Amino acid sequence: MKQVNISVPVLNQVIYTNQNVEFAVKDSETEIYEKIHRIEQFTYHFRKIKKSHLQRYLSQAQIEFIYQTIADRCVTPFWKDHLLGLGIDRIELIKGFMCYDCNTIAPHVYGGWRCTTCSKKVNDMLYQNVIDCFLLNSATLNVAEIKAFLNLTNSRQVLSYMNKLGIKSEVAGRERVFISPIHSRNN
Ligand SMILES: [Zn+2]
Repeated sequence: MKQVNISVPVLNQVIYTNQNVEFAVKDSETEIYEKIHRIEQFTYHFRKIKKSHLQRYLSQAQIEFIYQTIADRCVTPFWKDHLLGLGIDRIELIKGFMCYDCNTIAPHVYGGWRCTTCSKKVNDMLYQNVIDCFLLNSATLNVAEIKAFLNLTNSRQVLSYMNKLGIKSEVAGRERVFISPIHSRNN
């Protein structure tokens, strides 16, 4: 964060998943309880934390930068088939543009996307949707694959959105191949 001059509050939290874990703290350290949660309680605490930090600290570009840096560290240098490891068949994936606030598919309307669950325009989630497309499918994707995954109606839309996000591409044989910005170019 310091390197890129981004300042955000950092909260230490311990989440434990083993139900048999028990812990005790001294009377003078009871505030520690606020930082240690069972996995079942975490979403409740997360919402509480979110409520107490309503100020927006980061611009969309900064969020994308951090997202990309973290994803980069987790996936570089190799693309990995996460679905295979989880035993999920690729055809089981729900196709379309995801509203990450509601985890539902948002329909394409008037050159963008509007989520019918939260009624918000969710065009700013395009980058994350495209990154998920690479993460779940391959480090390189052709127009047809992106079109199918995001459930777009034509190839022109794919080209225009990839261009808007600055996703690099190369011509391989007779088709254009887009390259994941978070995976190594050598693989
Ligand atoms: Zn939504």
